[in-house]
Order: sequence, then structure tokens, then C-alpha cells
Amino acid sequence: MKTVVTRSPEEAARFVREGDVAAFPTETVYGLGAAIFDAGAIRKVFEAKARPVDNPLIAHIATTDQIACVASNVPESARRFVEAFFPGPLTVVLRKHPEVPAIATAGLDTIGVRMPAHPLANTFLAACATPVVAPSANRSGRPSPTTWQAVLADLDGRIPCILAGDRTAVGLESTVVDCTIAVPLVLRPGAISVGQLATLVPGTRLVVGSDGEASRRSPGTRHRHYAPRARVVVVASPAEVAAPTGAAFIGIDSPDRPESFATVRLCRSPAEYAHELFAYFRDCDAAAIPVVYCQLVPGEGVGAAINDRIRRAAAGFFSLEV
Ligand code: AMP
Ligand code: MG
Repeated sequence: MKTVVTRSPEEAARFVREGDVAAFPTETVYGLGAAIFDAGAIRKVFEAKARPVDNPLIAHIATTDQIACVASNVPESARRFVEAFFPGPLTVVLRKHPEVPAIATAGLDTIGVRMPAHPLANTFLAACATPVVAPSANRSGRPSPTTWQAVLADLDGRIPCILAGDRTAVGLESTVVDCTIAVPLVLRPGAISVGQLATLVPGTRLVVGSDGEASRRSPGTRHRHYAPRARVVVVASPAEVAAPTGAAFIGIDSPDRPESFATVRLCRSPAEYAHELFAYFRDCDAAAIPVVYCQLVPGEGVGAAINDRIRRAAAGFFSLEV
């Protein structure tokens, strides 16, 4: 299959309207979209990514009116989150509309819904004239793509179209918050922090390892994720890195002897770290770097999302199921 790279959202939307798939940029990462009511097209998304079929997709909408097409009930908590953070890097999990095919949500009776804050994404989604289900546009298990070139590297010849935009602003996937329970639970941290959500709906909290129920609610978080081919080692400070020869380092604080690393990426803020992380993983793979040290950051704001992704990338090296 030839993969067309286009700058035209209308051209990319034509593939979706005709029952095929197209990759597109958002403010978080690039997504791989299919029309939500077209089970055949959704199957192509799973096939192109080699994605496990128990990993649900997120419905992307162009207008808040479309929520009613994909979800059957919008509780008060979700209403508040939607009003405050749509469009933006937040996915609300709601009861699924019965007409949404089961394959879209991996058989769950809930559905994640998001409205991206990205002009090209919005023009594309509007031109699709339907909600679009989209996971990140990477081969399953790889770091999410933050550039169209990263999408091409993973999916060239496996998808018919990539809508090319700029490098994504946030760099990590959306915050996912389950609103189907009495007190909302953040299943995946992202750029919208748990604190921001808890301000609107008191009690909203981040899932923890002992929340066995939550892993059933968000099956995707069980799978290997975000991992480069290199081994990822999580450190609290660069001083913990003993023998860095040939290794890479990404974080906020400079190591004592930066010249002993093959490459060092210092970030001035957690936001810049989030923006850089997945692209850095891919750069390290291209340079065949065997080990990437990643510095933990304070867990506030987007810091919780960075720590989550680097821990998963580290765990993913040892096991396919984390
Ligand atoms: P991706 O966009 O590739 O990061 O994949 C979407 C992720 O969103 C999944 O792996 C889940 O972690 C989460 N997700 C999507 N739909 C649901 C849902 N109905 N319930 C809980 N989590 C979901
Ligand atoms: Mg993904």
C-alpha cells in the first residue's frame, strides 16, 4: 500500500469517509483515525498498528454536540470537565452509545471521548462528518508519534494517508478520567492534572496500583507502552547514574560528566520534558543507544504524566504485560 502524506485535512478526511483510515496531528500526539460507526474501518486501525483487540480506542469529536452520538449519558462530573477543558488534552470516559460498534471500545460498555485543541485536527474531524475513533498512530508498544515522520517510520505502507502537521505541542497522550463512577478516577495522567480536575469535582483522584478494578476499566494501561528499543532506567537524580558510557540521559538536572554520555537532553521545565520525551526515545533508537536514563520529576501537573510514561517504558523492557 502506498502511504500518501498530505497537508490537506479535506484530502485526509476523504479516506475516512470512504471507509479507510488516516493519521492526523493533535495537540497531544498523532492519532490514527477511522469513522466510529464503520467496524470494518476500525478493524484496519487495529491491524495497521498490530494493536491488541482488548485495547479500546478514544472517540474524537469536532463539536460537543457529537458527544450525544457516541455516549448515552453525560453525568454532572463529565459536564463540568467538558465545559472547562474541551477542546483540550482530556478524555472523559462515559457510558457508550449502543450504536457504537463493540470493536471500537474493545467490548467495554464505556467509551473515552475527546475534542482535540488543534486547528488541523478540528478541520479534519469536521470534514470527516462523523466522530472518529483514534489511538496513537504508532506500531503497538512503540512510543507515541509526535511528528508525521515518526508516523511514517512506524506505519509506512500499512496505512493509506498521513495528514502532516507540525510537531505536537504537548508530546504525551491525553489525561483519561473515568466519569462513569460516583467519584471520577484518573486512569491515565496527562497534561490536565488531577489537581485541576479535583478543583472542579472534589475527590477526583489518580488510580493507584492497588486499584485492581481500574485496570479492568482501562485495559490499555496493561499493555507494554511507550517503550524505545533501548533499555529505560528511571533515576531520581543524575547522580545515580553509575557507568553512563554510550548511554543517553533525559531530565531536568545536568549530570556531573555530561561528556561521558552518548547524548544528553536537558529540559528547562516539565512541559518541555513532556514535549521532548517520545521524540528523544526515537532519536536514541535511531542512534542504536542501548540505555536511556530518565530522571523522575516532581509529581505535580504534567510531572505525574512524565513519571508514569518513563516508569511504563522501563517496565516494558522486561515484560510485555505490565
Ligand atoms: P491511545 O490513544 O493509543 O493512547 O489508546 C487509548 C487509551 O485510552 C487506551 O489504551 C486506554 O488506556 C484509554 N481508554 C480508551 N477508551 C477507554 C475506556 N472506555 N475506558 C477506559 N480507558 C479507555
Ligand atoms: Mg497508544
